[in-house]
Amino acid sequence: MYEIIIVGAGPAGLTAALYAIRAGKKVLVLEAKSYGGQIVNAGLIENYPGIAKISGFDYATNLYNQVKELGGEIKFETVIRIEEDNTVITNNNKYKAKAIIIATGSENRKLNIEREEELVGKGISYCATCDGNFFKQKVVAVVGGGNTALEDAIYLSNIAKKVYLIHRRNELRGEIQYQNELHKKDNVEIIYNSNIIKLIGNDILEAIEIEDNNGNKKKININGLFIAVGQVPKNEIFKGLIELDDKGYIKSLDGVHTNKKNIYVAGDTRVKELRQLTTAVSDGAVAATTAIKEMER
Ligand code: NAP
Repeated sequence: MYEIIIVGAGPAGLTAALYAIRAGKKVLVLEAKSYGGQIVNAGLIENYPGIAKISGFDYATNLYNQVKELGGEIKFETVIRIEEDNTVITNNNKYKAKAIIIATGSENRKLNIEREEELVGKGISYCATCDGNFFKQKVVAVVGGGNTALEDAIYLSNIAKKVYLIHRRNELRGEIQYQNELHKKDNVEIIYNSNIIKLIGNDILEAIEIEDNNGNKKKININGLFIAVGQVPKNEIFKGLIELDDKGYIKSLDGVHTNKKNIYVAGDTRVKELRQLTTAVSDGAVAATTAIKEMER
């Protein structure tokens, strides 16, 4: 029996663990893959207060070590479901807790076009900082118009010979400073109002076909395609137990409470306005302290 079980070892989950352990609670963190969540894919974090520059991987590793050094118990097991009585069922075990904090984060949204899955690692990637170096002096495309796509296009412009940025609307969603930086790049071409409709290549990606809003189609030869079309929450397993919104985010309009007593939520996986590292760690701290306060009441 644990006092608090935290599902997910990203910044929100690990911060919740940090606060709960320091408050003297018996805590278990369960993580399906590896610690750090999405932030490990961020090449450089430049907007975390008090740390001018740090790589996402270093940040996540520091936080993980901080929790381990405090004696944090982190098990790499996949949570399959949570039962009504707060029993957490994993692929290996069953655990029970007085309170559960869900901090499962989100994952990359797929384009959902034919052959997308088959060509991952064969020209298709969801992480420019992880795979960009495979495309030195090659031609690549980034799809998306948000901050991730803009950052990826800027990062890749320093490695690849040519970068196409393909966006479905006529204006970019990402922050203006990234847009300005992008416009200064000679080797970046932005293609607006267009969608990728076909992936071409035998064993590896060789080209894409795009279609603009007027139905005009065009083939572009590329070596690599970086898909940066946003995130989707990882909440499938909680459907039925916890209320989700129509996009699958956990409803938590008052902050970190779910609709279930003793089950809290923190980080990107909940309904919120701003999904950033700062707001994820803030959620983790609030979720842990709220859970502790309410369990002691
Ligand atoms: P995002 O802001 O949700 O942007 C997703 C982009 O992909 C949008 O431009 C969207 O187009 C496009 N898109 C969505 N589905 C598509 C589809 N099926 N086909 C083609 N295009 C599609 O996602 P994100 O860029 O991953 O960012 C996620 C969050 O992290 C945001 O809050 C962002 O600000 C934050 N972030 C911050 C930083 C930073 O501060 N340094 C860096 C990266 C990410 P529409 O514009 O038409 O909707």
